Amino acid sequence: MISRRLQTIARFCPKGARVADIGSDHALLASYLIREEIASFVVAGELNEGPYQAALKQIHTIQAEDKASVRKGDGLSVLKPGEVDVVCIAGMGGQLIVSILSAGADKLEGVSRLILQPNVGEEHVRRWFVENNWQLSAETIMEEDGIIYEILVADKGDGMIPYRNKDRSPEELLRIGPFLWEEKSPVLAKKWMSEREKWTKVLEQLSRSDKQEAAVRAAQIKEELEWINEVI
Ligand code: SAM
Repeated sequence: MISRRLQTIARFCPKGARVADIGSDHALLASYLIREEIASFVVAGELNEGPYQAALKQIHTIQAEDKASVRKGDGLSVLKPGEVDVVCIAGMGGQLIVSILSAGADKLEGVSRLILQPNVGEEHVRRWFVENNWQLSAETIMEEDGIIYEILVADKGDGMIPYRNKDRSPEELLRIGPFLWEEKSPVLAKKWMSEREKWTKVLEQLSRSDKQEAAVRAAQIKEELEWINEVI
């Protein structure tokens, strides 16, 4: 059975869609989408030889070569324009996800949905949606094996950030997530409490330094901590 995280990503794929999973590693998501008859066709893209070979093996094992194409290459370069409806990119940093999307913008013609799971730097991904006319349509936050994950779904649209909650600015909502802020799940509170813990530790370390840069950084972190305290 695949992880709950990958199953959650799969739940956002419309039935019958043609889906690309970029950075597919062992093609676990791609094979799940085919086995569960969620996707009609999948492309599993991988940059690195080891995971690419593992993906080929996985697709062979489930005898899905007719519905799954495993390709080696960087980001969206493995796709032909118009070939897929949905692009999933999971398990990478937000900045890497954004650079993959920007570098392959021409390959997004015809793609109607993006399902992205950044490990860190979610705000970079939300900002990219706004700047590139993708409409954030759903978000979820979940915890599995002690790790918190956010999954962001965007559909082709006008890039407006859903801004129903007027108690936070658009800039703050890009950081927190507008849907997550509205939902206010205990997992969201846990995420920001652990951020607070992390920055408190950094602040303690900085307080032992008498360098000017440490004082500047400490002031920035104090501001961040004040903001987090206000949010949670
Ligand atoms: N997507 C899977 C998941 O969420 O479980 C695997 C995540 S794994 C941490 C990241 C994978 O992305 C690795 O297999 C890595 O080789 C691949 N990768 C990293 N940069 C890539 C890029 N520019 N294009 C395609 N694959 C990439």
